[in-house]
Amino acid sequence: PLPTAPAAVARLCSGAGGEAEAAGGDGAMLRHLARKLRASGPVTVAEYMREALTNPGQGYYTRRGGVGESGDFITSPEISQVFGELIGIWYISEWMAMGKPSTLQLVELGPGRGTLTEDILRVFKQLASVLSKCDVSVHLVEVSPKLSEIQAVMLTGGKVQPNPEDKSAYMEGISKNGIPIFWYSNIQDVPPGYSFYLAHEFFDALPIHKFQRTEKGWREVLVDIDPEVPDQLRFVLSPSRTPATQNFIQPEETRDHVEVCPEAGVIVQRLASRIEKDGGAALVADYGHDGTKTDTLRGFRNHKLHDVLSAPGTADLTADVDFSYLRKMAQGRTATLGPIKQREFLKNMGIDLRLQVLLQNSGDKATRQQLLHSYDMLMNPEKMGDCFNFFALLPHHRLVHPDTNDKSKSPSPPVAGFNELLLK
Ligand code: SAH
Repeated sequence: PLPTAPAAVARLCSGAGGEAEAAGGDGAMLRHLARKLRASGPVTVAEYMREALTNPGQGYYTRRGGVGESGDFITSPEISQVFGELIGIWYISEWMAMGKPSTLQLVELGPGRGTLTEDILRVFKQLASVLSKCDVSVHLVEVSPKLSEIQAVMLTGGKVQPNPEDKSAYMEGISKNGIPIFWYSNIQDVPPGYSFYLAHEFFDALPIHKFQRTEKGWREVLVDIDPEVPDQLRFVLSPSRTPATQNFIQPEETRDHVEVCPEAGVIVQRLASRIEKDGGAALVADYGHDGTKTDTLRGFRNHKLHDVLSAPGTADLTADVDFSYLRKMAQGRTATLGPIKQREFLKNMGIDLRLQVLLQNSGDKATRQQLLHSYDMLMNPEKMGDCFNFFALLPHHRLVHPDTNDKSKSPSPPVAGFNELLLK
């Protein structure tokens, strides 16, 4: 398939974008939340986000899905096939550097429409001779029934079996080139084993807690019903400290407003323990910062910024990923690399060469223009090039520089994509 032109808008780092749009919706989620708030008082921003995004009946991801040109936002894998191909090459190069283990699980968290896995599997197919002795399987962690259906059509042509016996998966199928694919609602259900994890625009969708420093100490931002306006939500501050202010604010914190995503921390801890025990690597790509930003929570609907508290369940809610927090939560179980900017990572992975080959192979002008346009979306520092970052977890031994006096050990090759960082 040819790269598709981005008719749609990507969610960029916080701060990029225009006025937020307030909007209606059918109001079912708002009524549900208003009842809950009236009955038991304000909720944390994390609880609000969890309801709005993944409530089993009315949540945004559960019902709407959002990704793609016809959705509310567009992502890199939807912009160009080259993006997923280069990630596929990253995994193969790591698999080779780690001594070509005989089994490999590709585990994607929040696969959206399934496009990224599809592009990676195409690379695996093209390099079938390299992978011929490796038993490859795909494991998708997806909460949204709607998106898992779209993924199943994309990856298997829709031939899937629900609730397979003796499996922790809720669905299984076989890819067009014969690779088994399993779906789970939680990373903990994925069987152990040598695995490559992938989280593209996944961590930004997880619920965050928001805190503010006040004269009386740290307070948590909560969501409450506005007493003046019926069924309208508003932000309030907790009257005293909350369990979260005690657990998540570091004593050395210098910012006055802080966002923390404990769920991301728990998932990174799990990934790090699994990689430490069974080997493999994790690649995280998202917009974010290294513990410096303050207020990044925002909503998107129909490719426009959307008021976070308006018509919950009808808009995507997202916050920048704090990579310094992810690094901390790996707790030294694995080494970490990055974050490095998307344009540097893709350049190190050879995107320019790949573009040249595709340009040479495409006969018509419109296709060539599309290729250049999507390259610009991914690489331009003012578009996705600088906002998005790549971050990796790798076993410590992968980064050990061998003792130069010990000639029996060959040096580990540099980690692709990050090699400039390694040279520092
Ligand atoms: N990776 C895709 C989609 C990003 S949107 C892309 O880049 O195009 C976020 C994805 O994470 C969606 O598939 C959404 O349904 C899924 N998701 C959100 N919260 C989740 C959770 N708690 N557990 C598993 N998947 C989740």
